[in-house]
Formats: sequence, C-alpha cells, structure tokens
Amino acid sequence: MTDYEPVIGLEMHAELMTESKMFSKAKVVDSVEAAPNTAVSPLCLGMPGTLPVINEKAVEYATRVALALNCTINHHNIFARKNYFYPDLPKGYQISQYEQPLGVNGWLDVELETGETKRIGIRRVHMEEDTGKLTHQDDGTSLVDYNRAGVPLLEIVTEPDIRSGEEARAYAMKVRQILRYLGVNSGDMEKGVLRVEPNISIRPVGSSQFGTRTELKNLNSFRVLADGTAYEIARQTAVLQSGGKVIQETRGWHEGRRETFSQRTKEEAEDYRYFPEPDLPPLHLDNAWIEEVRASLPELPDAKIARYMTTYGLSEYDARVLSEERAVAEWFDTAVTQANAVGTTPKSLANWMINELFRLMNEAKLSIDAILVTPAALVALISLVEKQTINNNTAKEVLAEMFATGSAPAQIVESKGLAQISDDAAITAVITQILNNHPDQISRYLAGEEKLRGWFVGQVMRQTQGKANPALVNQLLDVALTAKK
Ligand code: ADP
Ligand code: MG
Repeated sequence: MTDYEPVIGLEMHAELMTESKMFSKAKVVDSVEAAPNTAVSPLCLGMPGTLPVINEKAVEYATRVALALNCTINHHNIFARKNYFYPDLPKGYQISQYEQPLGVNGWLDVELETGETKRIGIRRVHMEEDTGKLTHQDDGTSLVDYNRAGVPLLEIVTEPDIRSGEEARAYAMKVRQILRYLGVNSGDMEKGVLRVEPNISIRPVGSSQFGTRTELKNLNSFRVLADGTAYEIARQTAVLQSGGKVIQETRGWHEGRRETFSQRTKEEAEDYRYFPEPDLPPLHLDNAWIEEVRASLPELPDAKIARYMTTYGLSEYDARVLSEERAVAEWFDTAVTQANAVGTTPKSLANWMINELFRLMNEAKLSIDAILVTPAALVALISLVEKQTINNNTAKEVLAEMFATGSAPAQIVESKGLAQISDDAAITAVITQILNNHPDQISRYLAGEEKLRGWFVGQVMRQTQGKANPALVNQLLDVALTAKK
C-alpha cells in the first residue's frame, strides 16, 4: 500500500483590539457581553451613500503582527472587494486585500514536542473586516448581530509547510502568544476573536506535487485543530487507499461524533470577483513609519527565552515558563532589576516565582496583574532568606501571607515573630534539653541507628516553631552528639 504524507497550510483570522471598526467610527465591543446590534453604524450595515475611512490604529496593529512574523511590508497597499452574498454581510461584499497585501514572505520558528525547531513560512498577512454573526434557532429562523460587522480582522496564511496536527497546533499556539504579546488580540478563542482553519491534503511520500485539499472551518480550540486535522488525514488516506478521490471542499468538525463532515464544495477565487475597492485610495506606508512601528514592538518570546538563558543562566524550561505570557515576563524583568541591586540572582527569583508564586496564583486562580505581591516584595523576601533572617520554610509561609494580605515580608516576620534563631547558645540550649529528655534515642543512635539524627533535627525545629537556622542546628547537633560518644 502507498504511504502518504500530509501537507497542511493554516489560515488564522484575528480580530484587532482597536477602539473603533476598520472603516467606520462604530465601537468594537465584546461580542459575547454587548447587547446585539448596539455597536453599528450606517456603514457596517451597508447603507447606500456611506464611505469607508481606514482606521490608522488597525493598520498599525496589523503592521506590528506582520513585522513580528518576519514579513516584508508592502509600501503600496490595495484594498479589494470580495463579493459574495450572505445575510451576515449586508454590503454584499467584504473589504479585504487580495493583490498587494500588507505583509508577505514571513516565517515563524516553532518548537515541536520532539525538541526540534521548525520554520513555517508565512505567505501573507492581510487586513480585512469581520462579518456579522448569525445565530440559527431551533424553529428554523436565524438571528443576526452586526456588532461584529466591520471589526478589523487580520488574516494570517502560511505556506503549506506543516506536516501534522501537532505541528499545526504548535504553530497556532505560538501565533496566539505573539498576538497577545503585541497587545492586538486577547487570544480568546471561545469568543471567536481568533479562529483557525487548516487546509489539509495528503500525497504519496516522495511526491513533489500537492494533492487535493479540504479546508476545516470554524475550529474553536487548539485541541480541535489537532484532532480535526488528524481525523482529516486519516479520512483522506482511507479514501485514496480504497481507490477513491478527495474532493476539494469545506468541512466542519462535529464535536459529538468527533469527525469532520462536508459543508460545501469550495468556491474558486474567481467566484468572489475581486476588484480594487473604488471607495478607498491605495494605502501608502513609508519606511519611516514602518520603522517606527518596528521600534515599538515589545521583546518577543523567543528573544526573551534566549536572553533569560544566556544572560541569566536559566534553564530552557524556566526561561520558557517565565516568558509564556508577557505580563509574567515583565514582572520577572522588573524583579530582576530590583534583585540586582541587593545581590539576589535571577536564578533564585525564577525558582521562587515558578515553584511558589505560581502555585499560589493557580490555587487562587489569579493572573499576575491581579496579585498583591509586587516584584520588590518578592525580592525583599528572598533577601531575608539570603541574609538568614528567616529560613526557606518560614519564607514560604511568609509568601503565602504576603499573597493573602499584600503586607511587606519584613513586617510579617516582625509581627509574627518569625525571625530565625541564629543564636548558638539558644539553639544549643534546645538541643541539650532534647538530648536529655530522650536517652533511649541516644543509645539507639550510638548503637548505629543513623536515621535518628534526622529525628533530633526535627525535634529541634518543632521546639523552635521552625525558626531555628537549619544549618546551625545541624552543626551544633553534631557537636552535641559527638560529645555523647
Ligand atoms: P484560499 O484563499 O482559496 O483558501 P490559498 O491558496 O490562499 O487558498 O491557500 C490557503 C491555505 O491553503 C494556505 O495556507 C496554503 O498554504 C494552503 N494550501 C494550498 N494548497 C494546499 C494543498 N494542496 N494542501 C494543503 N494545503 C494547501
Ligand atoms: Mg481559504
């Protein structure tokens, strides 16, 4: 039997978080929370006599994305009419870009589960406007909400470089991360502000020609992207192996049956009768403006990971975890600056954040913007440990208290009397008392039951409510036990 390999290209649609719509002053509102048809203008309703005006902020946001995806920016941008009829599109056409899109020939490096990095080519990034939203009801009628009509929309199209559902997922997740870093899209897939559509075909291994593709529409999660793609690869393979032909069509995902189903056979580009939008002039972007946008880009995840590893000596895992979200990475960056001043290392900061702070955040279901602990406060806490004012375990308790109340660590240590006991005489007194009270354990220890040493340490910590300096306890206990031999 012939072996087949999948060929996949991804189209992603991302709404841009601008104040107003792509070509009108109507507000961009939350499509789930806002009452239907409350953010519409005559233009987004397709009223005769209205004229579109390009939203500069939308162009800037789109350019940020195109640059972050390593695209070449076209100086000369043309908007085009994409004509088709559908009730969610009152104008009867969508203003999009066809020839001369905003960005071309980009790429994105994606880390795969195997540890390899794969470069996915990006064919184009173009600007368009979203359509309205239809809700089909059980009685056969449909409702339409035009709040979404005309919201700035970005289409990001890859080259057919992807070879599995998992690769598709890794790529899409990275695009989402970058959009969130750039502050242009929330990445909220349940709300439909980010949509993914894979184009999938298979071909005999070794063939250089592409097979006929199908397109999966309206996938609303990364899991469905991976599963739907895998399903489609298996379905097409079965079709070809049984001597059939794959039909070029648009398919949907049925979550209940966990399979794809045919929705419609695919329109060819000419069905849309694209032509340059006569109501909009070409949009010229000069180099100075493009360079200004480039200079305004934040440090992106790959650059952050590299910097955390080379400059701070973090492991790749830690670097990735800390740069997953921009707000977390910036919190860490701020903390590092403050840590430098007091001699705390980025490494110990990273450990405290990943092991302790994130655990508290998960338990409380709070994002880093919402917590009461400031970077300076965490640095102050670590500094108390490093100066041996408190030990590690006490510091964890103090952090929990900081997290709950926002109090400063020194204040918590002071008011709860948590300062570490680092006084030789005080610790020796406790040790002496414990050894005197447990002659049995001492005999057993001296007879070779080594593990009782740990038990003695535990007794000392208990007696001091965990405040004894552990290093000192160990040292002084050794002295005391040696004296018993
Ligand atoms: P359209 O605009 O009609 O959807 P495009 O040519 O822009 O078509 O391609 C859309 C996506 O499909 C791109 O990501 C492209 O890489 C991918 N693609 C094109 N041909 C194939 C194919 N034979 N198999 C898989 N993906 C393909
Ligand atoms: Mg398409």
